Amino acid sequence: MTRILIIEDEPNMRMGLRDNLEFEGYEVDIAVDGEEGLTSALGKKFDLILLDVMLPKISGFEVCKQVRAKGVTTPIILITAKGEEIDKVLGLELGADDYVTKPFSLRELIARIKAVLRRGGAERESEENLVIGQLSVNFRTYSASINDAEVQMSHKEYEILKFLWHNKNSTVSRDTLLNEIWGYEENPTTRTVDNFIMRLRQKIETDPNHPKFILTVHGIGYKLVMA
Ligand code: CA
Repeated sequence: MTRILIIEDEPNMRMGLRDNLEFEGYEVDIAVDGEEGLTSALGKKFDLILLDVMLPKISGFEVCKQVRAKGVTTPIILITAKGEEIDKVLGLELGADDYVTKPFSLRELIARIKAVLRRGGAERESEENLVIGQLSVNFRTYSASINDAEVQMSHKEYEILKFLWHNKNSTVSRDTLLNEIWGYEENPTTRTVDNFIMRLRQKIETDPNHPKFILTVHGIGYKLVMA
């Protein structure tokens, strides 16, 4: 179920929004000022936050800023008042995804909510799916395939590939891979890393002996090359 947090101090507005969004099938939490809103936004998981700009205690801008500073990426739609043109720009700079201006129609708001949620979903999907060479990988389900045929990969292979992907086009040293993937749980050698890279290459590369994607950086480590 899609959960929305409404941070709005005006009771009528708050209740109206809540009733209508619940009617639309969303699960709704409410906060009556910036302080309560910030606590909720940081403490619970939401799919979207509707954030009024003019709030008691902590302003909507400050809430937005602090939420983003804590690394929370939940989409935020700001509710601004008419004539606050400058607020829209500032809000988007502070990390809001969209805004509506009071007075707005419910239809407009719902359309924006759906658009922002769709965008978020597409982004999440692109963070989970990697196509590299002939291999397609889904890091949410830990499944991989080549030309629609399932490919078996070990958990470590997924983790190494994910780490290289997140550091694509940069050289990652063998030591970094050892620390990140194996940690202190085992006592692998850099040779172990090389073996895993070889296995990944066999899945990704058309010609594993002449890799085009996972390149060796001599004396240092590896680099995943992709657009
Ligand atoms: Ca307000």
